[in-house]
Amino acid sequence: MLQLDEEQRLILQSVREIVQKEIKPRAASLDETGEFPWDAVRIFSKNDILNPLLPRRYGGVEVSVPTFCMIVEEIAKACASSALLLITQAEGPWSIIYGANEFLKEKYLKRLAGDSQILTGFGAIEPSIGSNLFSLSTYAEVQGTHYLLQGEKCFVENGSVADFLVLYAYTDPSKGVQGISAFIIEKGSSGLVHLRDENRMGMRGTLYSEYLLENLAVPRENRIGEEGDGYLNMLYTLSASRLFTASQAVGIAQGAMEEALSYARRRVQFGKTITHHVPIQLMIAEMASGIESARLLTYKTAFLFDQGEAKKAGIYAAMAKLIASDTAMKVTTDAVQIMGGYGYMKDYPVERMMRDAKLTQIHTGTNQIMKLMIGRDLTGIS
Ligand SMILES: Cc1cc2nc3c(=O)[nH]c(=O)nc-3n(C[C@H](O)[C@H](O)[C@H](O)COP(=O)(O)OP(=O)(O)OC[C@H]3O[C@@H](n4cnc5c(N)ncnc54)[C@H](O)[C@@H]3O)c2cc1C
Repeated sequence: MLQLDEEQRLILQSVREIVQKEIKPRAASLDETGEFPWDAVRIFSKNDILNPLLPRRYGGVEVSVPTFCMIVEEIAKACASSALLLITQAEGPWSIIYGANEFLKEKYLKRLAGDSQILTGFGAIEPSIGSNLFSLSTYAEVQGTHYLLQGEKCFVENGSVADFLVLYAYTDPSKGVQGISAFIIEKGSSGLVHLRDENRMGMRGTLYSEYLLENLAVPRENRIGEEGDGYLNMLYTLSASRLFTASQAVGIAQGAMEEALSYARRRVQFGKTITHHVPIQLMIAEMASGIESARLLTYKTAFLFDQGEAKKAGIYAAMAKLIASDTAMKVTTDAVQIMGGYGYMKDYPVERMMRDAKLTQIHTGTNQIMKLMIGRDLTGIS
């Protein structure tokens, strides 16, 4: 399963070089300034990895899902924010590829081809609903050739810099979740009121926006699929996003372990490098074992997506996200511990990695919700 083919090997080698040369040196200052990673957008687009999942039919390179996961992991080892840029770029288009008609695919997916720097985002969450995603209060009503959307959205990644967003709203609340629909919203649409970009603990080289939707006018042709298709569309997109988050978490953990190990090989206490002290060896053993388990589960999930096993892949994505993000949190915390006081300082990257890792336990659904999903699936009790 882990045998890379020639294409994967070449892609990963080139990503590794780009990361070492252009992404890693920028990671600390991105975190410090909290600015959007425009350099990463430029670098990724120039190297054809801003939208690597984009189908060939729409001008993309169409890497497989496992290859995409490996790219995300490789970038996250050095800069989790830059890896999140790729994940966010994949979310909106994923929902379009999965559910939209050919007209919308031609119109929006082709804009992402080649060295395009078009940005996208995905907005499900609202300030008053988070984990209980399907109790959305945003709704859409038909008025002539348009829908008018009313409501709020928050934590929309890439929000205020995105050229188009995929948002979800009820078109018929009386049908429960079968009344949710998905829409493509163009930047600058009348009624899309940008309230603010949110401040955050980690992944600071990214951007999350809050919006008011006030008579937001969306052409009827911008509905993805039929009315009511939004529920499955959201589930499938979130599943993919969980898988990508798991890859990001594996990358963060691997990066933190490498930093801690390299430091431990140099740091001398009690007359020998701290690698000679058994408690340090035990922490490193736990780190490596956790990372390898999380990576294997993540790759297995990626293969399920590629094989089109959507339902099974959804549950595996929840497991992969749960295990990989908990591993990332533990490994980064232990990496700080291994490096002692210096680990806590901004001179080294592990304190940033620890803050970045925290988000992987929360976004695309918290780990408590992942456990509920897995438990409900296995027991059949909802
Ligand atoms: C930086 C960031 C970026 C994000 N990006 C996006 C994005 O691009 N698009 C998007 O749509 N969303 C995005 N999100 C939203 C994210 O998915 C939600 O924050 C997450 O799903 C949790 O929702 P909440 O924050 O409202 O927490 P709540 O749902 O209020 O949960 C609070 C606590 O209660 C627990 N809890 C809730 N219900 C249960 C239950 N039934 N059983 C057990 N425990 C429960 C949760 O696990 C959590 O610990 C982002 C969030 C953050 C922080």
